Amino acid sequence: VENLSKTYQSGGRSLTVLDNVSFTLQPGDTFSIVGPSGSGKTTLLGLCAGLDRASSGSVYLNEIQLDNLSEDQRAAVRNQYVGFIFQNFQLLPTLTALENVMVPLELRGEKGAARTAQELLERVGLGQRGHHYPTQLSGGEQQRVSLARAFANRPKLLFADEPTGNLDADTSATVVDLLFELNREAGTTLVLVTHDLELASRTQRVIRIKGGTVISDTKPERLTV
Ligand code: ATP
Repeated sequence: VENLSKTYQSGGRSLTVLDNVSFTLQPGDTFSIVGPSGSGKTTLLGLCAGLDRASSGSVYLNEIQLDNLSEDQRAAVRNQYVGFIFQNFQLLPTLTALENVMVPLELRGEKGAARTAQELLERVGLGQRGHHYPTQLSGGEQQRVSLARAFANRPKLLFADEPTGNLDADTSATVVDLLFELNREAGTTLVLVTHDLELASRTQRVIRIKGGTVISDTKPERLTV
């Protein structure tokens, strides 16, 4: 991420929410972005994931410069490399939970996709809910289906926006364990936005942003509340 800035235009006014943000992630890193509400964390995650375009600066995924790509090309890169656990960018609404998890398995042509998807749903505590559609699940349950799908997908990079935000303590612990398991098992690079400093302290690096700028980039042992 190189000198990234983002200015939103709304109601005839411009609001700069990210100002000259730079950092580099290594493959397999676990990384969290923390900071006050409204500091630009979700915006930064969306830019890194190629969901939105920066006003200036660049995002590179290996040698691919996302900013230079068309919408379709960015979607193709996302499909190939990137998984999401986002509050508002998640499951296919016309498919059941089980079918959502099956999609990446079927795309890869794996045999027994339904059985694997069912096992993954059981891992996230939703073994009984496979036939439910996303609108029939709570926000936290939808997030867990997204996590099961991410396990099926084994993406190079996983972006998670507040992965524990609306979960109870037990479910939250399960989800966090699964995220780190995915990192260990599949080498997935984890990029988390979180208000949970305990979760942040489990990642290898923590970027703290405030008012759209990076105010620290540390290893967790140096993280201060
Ligand atoms: P939170 O912790 O509350 O989720 P955040 O750090 O993730 O906050 P962002 O969601 O990135 O913050 O928002 C940063 C700022 O940008 C906020 O002031 C928000 O109102 C503003 N903003 C976000 N999206 C838009 C948009 N599409 N148009 C205009 N302003 C926006």
